[in-house]
Amino acid sequence: MGYVIEPKAVSSVAVNGSNDRFPVRRIFCVGRNYAAHAREMGHDPDRELPFYFTKPADAVVDNGVDVPYPPMTENLHFEAELVVAIGKTAIDVSEENALDHVYGYAVGNDLTRRDLQSQSKTKGRPWDTGKAFDDSAPCAEIHLADQVSDIENARIWLTVNGETKQDSNTNKLIWSVSEVIANLSGLFTLQPGDLIYTGTPEGVGPVVKGDVIKVGVDGLTELETKIV
Ligand code: MN
Repeated sequence: MGYVIEPKAVSSVAVNGSNDRFPVRRIFCVGRNYAAHAREMGHDPDRELPFYFTKPADAVVDNGVDVPYPPMTENLHFEAELVVAIGKTAIDVSEENALDHVYGYAVGNDLTRRDLQSQSKTKGRPWDTGKAFDDSAPCAEIHLADQVSDIENARIWLTVNGETKQDSNTNKLIWSVSEVIANLSGLFTLQPGDLIYTGTPEGVGPVVKGDVIKVGVDGLTELETKIV
């Protein structure tokens, strides 16, 4: 059997210390997972359960690769995020066992057309146009989980042209990595190749063509993206 059109190559992310790559199946993203960011977006974090949106697998962009300023927006925002790469199938797993399903961790940037996302919120429509556009998910090299220590107590920061815009710690996640995996695995069968963008801290803001965005999480490779 063949295909009636040529299938697209599998999307993938680099793996630290390896020439082999991590194939991406789905990209899940957690909304408003840091209290200070929820507040800056006009919400009360104490009254909300976690929620999720997704991006297509081919939205990933390698470290150091330029991202074209996307169409139909005048307010492209950066969002520094810790990314979890799933390595084993997870179906309704407990918080205690959740981390057994993690392949590794990486630094990501959940690029957002904030104006389109805001319109969607106002009209009660899906977020896809604001979140799931082409090249909207830059992701640096994945570090194997057993080579990363204290990922739930790690500084997370972001600079634009060298100026600090976001500076927080993953210990401020409302829903921890274990809790996100446990909750998400009750909604979806998590499979090897899935990425989870775990949410962004406060300080999100716009970028323009020519800006260089750097995102860091302690212990992981820094992610650099130029908007062109
Ligand atoms: Mn986000």
